[in-house]
Amino acid sequence: MRLPSKPIVEPDNKEIGALCTAIKAVKQHAEQKKLGRGRGGHGTMPCPVQGCKGLVRYLVYTSNGHMMASCSRAGCLKLRE
Ligand SMILES: [Zn+2]
Repeated sequence: MRLPSKPIVEPDNKEIGALCTAIKAVKQHAEQKKLGRGRGGHGTMPCPVQGCKGLVRYLVYTSNGHMMASCSRAGCLKLRE
């Protein structure tokens, strides 16, 4: 079993800020594809988290425009609205 390189701890404010920025980037990516409420869909993009070389897959729900996204790298970005 491989342990994550970084121990899982409560993120500090700086990390929360970085995560918010990353989530915003994913949302913007979805907006560019004209995804949102009434027009759901999915997409992939390189993970916007600095230093992460993972791939983010996201899904936008047609019913409410909410988004679900996760990075291919364990312990990285994960979003569920
Ligand atoms: Zn990532």
